[in-house]
Amino acid sequence: MPTQILDAPPTAKAFSRPIADPEGPDLPIIDPLAWADHFENRSPEHLLRWAIERWGRRLALVTSFQSTGLVLLDMAWRIDPDIRVITLDTGRLPQETYDTMETVRRRYGAHLEVVSPDPQAIQELVRERGPNLFYESLKNRRDCCRVRKVEPLQRVLGNVDAWITGLRRDQAESRKDTLKVTFDDPPHQGLVKLAPLADWTEKQVDDYVRRHNVPRHPLYSKGYRSIGCAPCTRPVALGADLRSGRWWWESRTDGSAKECGIHLTPKPESSTS
Ligand code: SF4
Repeated sequence: MPTQILDAPPTAKAFSRPIADPEGPDLPIIDPLAWADHFENRSPEHLLRWAIERWGRRLALVTSFQSTGLVLLDMAWRIDPDIRVITLDTGRLPQETYDTMETVRRRYGAHLEVVSPDPQAIQELVRERGPNLFYESLKNRRDCCRVRKVEPLQRVLGNVDAWITGLRRDQAESRKDTLKVTFDDPPHQGLVKLAPLADWTEKQVDDYVRRHNVPRHPLYSKGYRSIGCAPCTRPVALGADLRSGRWWWESRTDGSAKECGIHLTPKPESSTS
């Protein structure tokens, strides 16, 4: 069981609703690590079923149509074909992501909730710093991610109690301690965050994709292993770090993670791009 330091116990807001545990009244629901422990050795389908029964429409899967997210969608859809699916259209996605979105829509009949950034915020950012601002500084890149990803997601997560993510421990050093259930991660106070495939490997994901004929993002066959916005993602060499094709021009001197801010709050500006 990986360890993760939680800064504080769950806030009152997180537990303002009755959330008695259907898995057993003895489970200490106030202890976030106990929830993570409870699900650590259970299957992803088990965790998904529990979450769907508990939260229903107050639960959403957030995916960018990479394989881990699509495996989760396939699993959740087999439990509840009406599972809510949210995706971010940053405005800078590769065409192949829109193609995958369409494939998924047809395959699963999914009513995708496509969330867009605030147009005025985008307009101001581009007017002041240009369309390719992210290449110029780490601050610019993080501001772009904040406006195109973090803030729109925060907006839409305002109407859920729990969300499902495709985080896996093998994706990056910064994700190696990912728990299957967490509360109140910094950008999303008051929410329960699930990572049912936290302990899966890339190979397990690929095997599931093949076995269940899950749609596969076309950029994987062009050498991509992690897929985000078009200008900020590129293929990686064999054996390279899974996420090394993301913001590849950035160097880190402070040990901070290369993240957009959805799953980790970046450290304050202390490194250069
Ligand atoms: S990944 Fe790149 S284009 Fe996408 S939001 Fe972040 S900086 Fe902007």
